[in-house]
Amino acid sequence: MKSAGFSAIVIGISPRVAFAAPNSLKNLRTGVQPGDKTRLVIETASRPSYSLSYGEKQLIVNLSNTNGHGDVKPALANGTLINRITQVQDGTKLQIVAALTGAIDAIEKNQIMVLEPNGDNDYRLVIDFARGTGRGIDANAPAPTTTAKNETKNTAPQAGAKQHIIVIDAGHGGKDPGCIGKGGTQEKTIVLSVAKKLKSKLDANGYKTFLTRSNDTYLKLGERAEIAEKKHADLFISLHANANPSRDMKGFSIYTLSEKASDEEAQKLAESENAADKIDVDGFEQFSKDIRVALSALQQHAVAELSEEYATGCAKTMNRASIEQQPGPAVRHAPFAVLRSTVPGALIELGHLSNKKEEKLLKSDEHQNKLVAAIVKSVKAYDFDV
Ligand SMILES: [Zn+2]
Repeated sequence: MKSAGFSAIVIGISPRVAFAAPNSLKNLRTGVQPGDKTRLVIETASRPSYSLSYGEKQLIVNLSNTNGHGDVKPALANGTLINRITQVQDGTKLQIVAALTGAIDAIEKNQIMVLEPNGDNDYRLVIDFARGTGRGIDANAPAPTTTAKNETKNTAPQAGAKQHIIVIDAGHGGKDPGCIGKGGTQEKTIVLSVAKKLKSKLDANGYKTFLTRSNDTYLKLGERAEIAEKKHADLFISLHANANPSRDMKGFSIYTLSEKASDEEAQKLAESENAADKIDVDGFEQFSKDIRVALSALQQHAVAELSEEYATGCAKTMNRASIEQQPGPAVRHAPFAVLRSTVPGALIELGHLSNKKEEKLLKSDEHQNKLVAAIVKSVKAYDFDV
């Protein structure tokens, strides 16, 4: 079905899969969000299973195993980038086809949310997007019922695809050495070395990367988070090494931001990492407040989910590379100041400098390269686009 079928509402009767009750469309609406963004809301009776494809002139949301309804009339708000919405039933798949008034930018994953039912609403698939240059978007608008190039699940950067931006943060620096191993190894030196190696490998894989520091300088935690904001990063990776009063404790660990620590140990770690710039707490709180104002509760939720997804994947690639993990949960949570931003990300404690064997490992090029290879894999496995 090419563009001819576009303006028509086509509700087909199709054979139903006996074992999966089909979802059904309940409501369609658009709205304007701060920052001149268009919001598309698709309400369905049960949790939607979806994929997106989009070109210069249209955005198509594919809902699998879903029935459309002719009496669902889209409520279109003024001032959005959508001027018409049609339903196209393609077998068991329902396509919501939104005609756009112009080119949009690539829709980032953190702009797409699935919300649980609340008092007045069923499940809602919420998609926010802004007018753009069409950068990273296939110039040939995908027609419904065909597999478009921008269809989800791109795992590697492709020619013409948006280049994803990653900010790599080497913890500590300058007057703040971080933790110090028994052999005198300083955390700030190890993490800078790993950060530089990671940058060059990610660059070679087609990512655009920035280091928060590329030499032995001191940066406040807020400044690090701010770099991620200013560079419009898609992912933020903060590298650290750990110390534990028990010299036997070893292994890496991965953290995401949470206002509540997952355990006492995570809380202590966050306190010691945050302590790095107690001096600047006032300035940081203001920055943190600004971030909160900029992010709706929904978006905060989306950033947290994406961070969790990245961190879980990273723990897996580290495990697969046979890098020893500290006993405990795969991903921990703690209120790290450096992770407080609109950019999804994780803090990786690469290992324990307080453990004699691991201190030696962390200093070796070979082990650093192994860590870097595992982190590169975790970035490649992370699904930036939807
Ligand atoms: Zn640290």
